[in-house]
Amino acid sequence: MYDKLIYEISKENRIGYSLPSDSVDNFEIEESLTRKTPLDMPEVTELDVVRHFTRLSQKNYGVDQGFYPLGSCTMKYNPKINEELASNFGFTKIHPLQKATSVQGALEIYYETSRLLSEITGMEEFTFNAFAGAHGELVGLMIMKQYHINRGDFKRTKVIVPDSAHGTNPASSSVCGFEVVEVGSTAKGTVDLEALKSALNDEIAGIMLTNPNTMGIFESDICEIAKLVHDNGSLLYYDGANLNAVLGMVRPADMGFDIMHINLHKTFSTPHGGGGPGSGPVGVVSKLTHLLPNPRVVKENNQFTFYHSEDAIGVISGFWGNFSVVVKAYCYILSLGKENIANVAKLAVLNANYIKESLKDTYKLPITELCKHEVVFDGLISEKATTLEVAKRLLDYGYHPPTIYFPLLFHQSMMIEPTESESKETIDDFIKIMKIIAQEADENPELLHNAPHNTLVRRLDEVKAAKTPILKYKDLLK
Ligand SMILES: *Cc1c(COP(=O)(O)O)cnc(C)c1O
Repeated sequence: MYDKLIYEISKENRIGYSLPSDSVDNFEIEESLTRKTPLDMPEVTELDVVRHFTRLSQKNYGVDQGFYPLGSCTMKYNPKINEELASNFGFTKIHPLQKATSVQGALEIYYETSRLLSEITGMEEFTFNAFAGAHGELVGLMIMKQYHINRGDFKRTKVIVPDSAHGTNPASSSVCGFEVVEVGSTAKGTVDLEALKSALNDEIAGIMLTNPNTMGIFESDICEIAKLVHDNGSLLYYDGANLNAVLGMVRPADMGFDIMHINLHKTFSTPHGGGGPGSGPVGVVSKLTHLLPNPRVVKENNQFTFYHSEDAIGVISGFWGNFSVVVKAYCYILSLGKENIANVAKLAVLNANYIKESLKDTYKLPITELCKHEVVFDGLISEKATTLEVAKRLLDYGYHPPTIYFPLLFHQSMMIEPTESESKETIDDFIKIMKIIAQEADENPELLHNAPHNTLVRRLDEVKAAKTPILKYKDLLK
């Protein structure tokens, strides 16, 4: 009943806006084209609409409301200056079909951002045409494939992906037509060198890795891995969705990687969630730049122009990717400045280790060594409640839960990433709440079994919600 009141606000003949009567000349519409039944639209006032959508927005949870420690997805604060600049009239009102000479400012931002990303990663050149991290992976793998084909090497049909990898890695490889060869990890989640050696042969096109790995641990054998892979004639792909831990500290190209993508919508503070908009720029070393997708932005005689390479893997998106996302990331990098880029990494790593040390007596810590920007626990030491129950109880305290049941290496994984943008007070409060929940699990486990108690909706059937979503309130009322 309550939901009915909120959703069903239409009243016959109520209007929110009146069209001026004389703005359009009378026009006879052909009978066959006229509407036979009235348009089924809600009839509401402007105030009704404003309240409706404001209310809906308040049912959501976002990083502007509170701590959002989602591991592997880097929900960091989105500074408002980024939004302000991206909504500049000169950016929002341009059209992708305009001549290059009329959009020099926009092209300059693409160009300058790519120069900055090259400086940060060591890659020679970037494309911004990919709309997301996974899309960037596909582009990078297409480049890898074309590189081997151009050398007349048609046998390289397989890509190595460690078992700890983000799910998009094997998925992208598969979409790109590669067969996935899984290699196991050590107990620390790092690549098992012996397993890697035995997987390498002349059918391997390359390997996809992330460093620090999915456990948040730095792959210290990376130089040896790179040598093994290169000696095998294969390429190294770096999944740089979350670059937090390495910003200004170490560059993927120096670790030996040939191709990479970055998620601007994770690493560089552009908002994400709910499916977009994102940007997954792809960077390559100099021997691969000619393969980058068309079109590219180049600078010639102090003018920015479009460049189409004959060797490119093709066109992978309409026009230019998500331009405003690039503006926001550019703004974030410039606001930090060269002197602060490395502080992102230092603070992100410090915050994660602070949580790790503060909670290790309450939550199982399978990997005890220094972590990078995220830390993985394996559930409560007491085992009095599951990770899912702890996550649901966190909602009652007003926190978004961490990533749960990923990585798959442990059965009760909780992957916590505080990012560089949180204050010590926020992190201390989160630690306090995590300890209170552990105590509740001992003393009153029912509280956790039935959580959440204070949210607008109680515990949902997540599988049903994903498989048979009810997207219209009218279906709910049936
Ligand atoms: C988020 C993420 C991706 C995929 O990025 P999308 O923009 O969601 O497609 C890939 N790899 C890692 C490690 C990630 O965290």
